[in-house]
Amino acid sequence: MNRIQLQHVLQSTQGTPHHFESSEMSFPDISIDSRRITEGTLFWALRGENHDAHHFLKEAAQNGAAAAVIHAEFLEQTVLPCIVVPDTYQALSQYAAAYRRSLETLVIGVTGSVGKTTTREMIYSTLRTGFQGVRSPKNFNNEYGVPLSLLSINPTDEFAILELGAARSNDLNNLIEMVLPEMGVVTEVAPAHLSTFGQIDNILQEKQKLIAALPETGLAILNGDSPKVLLMREIAACPVVSVGFEPHNELRAENVQTENGKIWFEVAGDDYFLPAMGEHHIRAALCSIAIGRELGLSLAQLRDGIADFQPMGGRCQWRQIGQVYLIDDSYNANPASMKAAIETLQILNVTGKRILVVGDMLELGPGEIFFHHQLGQEVAKSEIEMVISFGELASSVIAGARQYGMPSHQTAVCNNLDSLQAVLSCCVEHGDALLVKGSRGMQMERIIQWLAEHL
Ligand code: ATP
Ligand code: MG
Repeated sequence: MNRIQLQHVLQSTQGTPHHFESSEMSFPDISIDSRRITEGTLFWALRGENHDAHHFLKEAAQNGAAAAVIHAEFLEQTVLPCIVVPDTYQALSQYAAAYRRSLETLVIGVTGSVGKTTTREMIYSTLRTGFQGVRSPKNFNNEYGVPLSLLSINPTDEFAILELGAARSNDLNNLIEMVLPEMGVVTEVAPAHLSTFGQIDNILQEKQKLIAALPETGLAILNGDSPKVLLMREIAACPVVSVGFEPHNELRAENVQTENGKIWFEVAGDDYFLPAMGEHHIRAALCSIAIGRELGLSLAQLRDGIADFQPMGGRCQWRQIGQVYLIDDSYNANPASMKAAIETLQILNVTGKRILVVGDMLELGPGEIFFHHQLGQEVAKSEIEMVISFGELASSVIAGARQYGMPSHQTAVCNNLDSLQAVLSCCVEHGDALLVKGSRGMQMERIIQWLAEHL
């Protein structure tokens, strides 16, 4: 039987049906994108800042949609049976919230300034060794992505891991209300989206809402190496497990050993292998161990799940092209993930140079120059032999690096792709390792693509 019942949609959204032949109708799926419709889908026409999906009702019908959820003024413009609501976005949230309440699936929420997707993927990799479940698709973590993630859960799924993002204060309120998480993970509280959050304490206030919302029967997993995250222990009604490298953590990683792209670590004498580049992945693995143990997974299952981890695109993905290591960390950047990137690059075992290609970190507010300058200082103190900046803000990384002693000939400032490509053509040699990273808006994947074609 199809998962989505017309009656349920009408009840939860208070929508008005038009032109339906039967009130018993149901749909295999919901789609908000007219290009991705499959036969029988319910097309949900959302209105965003740049696009209004109501203009694609015809395409949706041609591609096989069986019905649509729309605003009243578009009723005359489609041949499809329609559910008319005052606000299609609100209606989607209402339906997703009602759908979630009909599920018996264990729902795990993951939030934090950095590492949500990585942690979500690690938990998924681990839990699927013993259970059937899903995790948020792609990077779905906002007011559109979270309801769609909820709707991707099948009633037979035993777990669902949902990424919950916040770009400003109060973003999490509706998401948490919709999702009703039973377990929650907070990865980090660090400068990200500061231009909208204003100050870091507002980020703390926001992220801790996830922990405050957990039921007494739930479980909170906190990054115990982050003093701000650890403060959330005080507000949890449920048991808390802190994870990290520091001795006070309940789940603590010890005896860490790395080789390029391989990590070994121990937790209370049990050894694990993690195929990843960057020790920050260990904290994600510890989160998955905490949840897996709570759910009764065996040590063998935990080990298998962690050994099976695969990074998502653009997040510390590495490959060897000829004699050069290329680390694609182009997905996004903020000061915390840049710091992790420096640590990742500097422990690489290479015969040549370690080269950081750094793009602007965006949305950092009035302190943006300071954060870039400070990053330069960290680069200068590290084992990185060359740093190349791409973008206006990133040039402050070079200024910081030079001020803290990095020789000028080991640095380069590039303000456009042509000059960056020229510099890379000259300086990359056999045996080198390159890490490429910048904010989403900098589209650093263009550089990865160019390198892949030209190395
Ligand atoms: P977004 O808010 O964009 O969805 P996210 O919180 O989901 O980001 P990821 O996509 O997992 O974060 O990672 C973003 C970047 O941060 C990647 O470069 C990744 O390698 C790095 N990263 C992942 N986990 C951590 C961590 N615990 N600490 C620092 N950096 C991390
Ligand atoms: Mg993410």
